[in-house]
Amino acid sequence: MWNKTIDFIKKLYQTDNFIPLHAPVFFGNEKKYLNECIDSTFVSSVGKFVDEFEHKLAEYTGSKHAIVCVNGTNALHLALLLAGVEQNDEVITQALTFVATANAISYANAVPVFIDVDKDTMGLSPMALEKYLQENAEIKQNECFNKSTGRRIKACMPMHTFGHACRIEEIISICKKYHIEVIEDAAEAMGSFYKGQHLGTFGLLSAISFNGNKIMTTGGGGVILTNDQNLAKKAKHLSTQAKIPHAWDYAHDHIGYNYRMPNINAALGMAQIEQIDTFIQDKRNTAKQYSEFFKENDISFFNERENEKSNYWLNALILENQEQRNDFLTVSNKAGVMIRPIWKLMNTLTMFKDCPKGDLSNSQWLADRVVNIPSGVK
Ligand SMILES: *Cc1c(COP(=O)(O)O)cnc(C)c1O
Repeated sequence: MWNKTIDFIKKLYQTDNFIPLHAPVFFGNEKKYLNECIDSTFVSSVGKFVDEFEHKLAEYTGSKHAIVCVNGTNALHLALLLAGVEQNDEVITQALTFVATANAISYANAVPVFIDVDKDTMGLSPMALEKYLQENAEIKQNECFNKSTGRRIKACMPMHTFGHACRIEEIISICKKYHIEVIEDAAEAMGSFYKGQHLGTFGLLSAISFNGNKIMTTGGGGVILTNDQNLAKKAKHLSTQAKIPHAWDYAHDHIGYNYRMPNINAALGMAQIEQIDTFIQDKRNTAKQYSEFFKENDISFFNERENEKSNYWLNALILENQEQRNDFLTVSNKAGVMIRPIWKLMNTLTMFKDCPKGDLSNSQWLADRVVNIPSGVK
């Protein structure tokens, strides 16, 4: 069966060479804009591409504001600070995620709380979230506290796994009841929509990543989305060393960060976002072909849900068990078709092993079975 699958993937990508999981493609104005950027000498944190890219991102996602950053991880870090997360607070997130989610929470000196995911979204489960809060949360003066640790639960950061929407509306309504701010880790969700609304525009703030392996790339880069004008202003301020605008004076009013996206990365981003519709169309077409092939061959392929238009960042299979998964990983990687297992649960990593957590049965079930198969734009 695996040989048949490997042949199918090689035919799909029309090559006998190594097939990576997700390589970037540059079919558009990339070189033109990069040359323009270099000729202008404005390659660093000021320049026209930065502003243009932010406008384009706001327009495409339907977010009122977009603030571009050096990468997705520091965009998440800044979003947490802007939501009011302080030292020793707790931030609820899912155990099944890429490590950057939990790292960003740690940069804010907060403690991640790991909650289970739903099997059909691979994103934070509202039922598991509500159960954890019912058992552990207590509201005091409009703030939520964790009875078992004494710490304040300030925020919740669900993640849209592989570009598929988690149950974001339910999560937001539960968090509202408990006075918890919602920040979406939409790192993988550029070009994904739920009920026609772009992922990352549901919560108070969100972050999308433009790393080289994501849907579109700026080399390294990320963006904070928010509809709140005040938070948008603060985001820009904090990401530029908290410098008070002035013709010549160095005045700063906060511990700031050097998190602003350089113009040269934004130039690349402008060329990439011009192609986003064809990227998404190609990726959805690949997913459709995979879906049909695996259906015929009785292998469980992870499909989008109703009301969802997923970018299918990384296509995923849910195999029978860990043994079958490891078998496929070995055979396929040896044959030059890159496949990867989903991440290890965050609570199993040394640095997060003592963090609070809920029941994680779905997360563990998926962690044992899910693999990603080549998904890049052709
Ligand atoms: C890629 C990713 C990030 C981090 O983005 P970078 O731009 O690589 O820093 C954060 N969270 C998730 C879920 C990701 O997949």
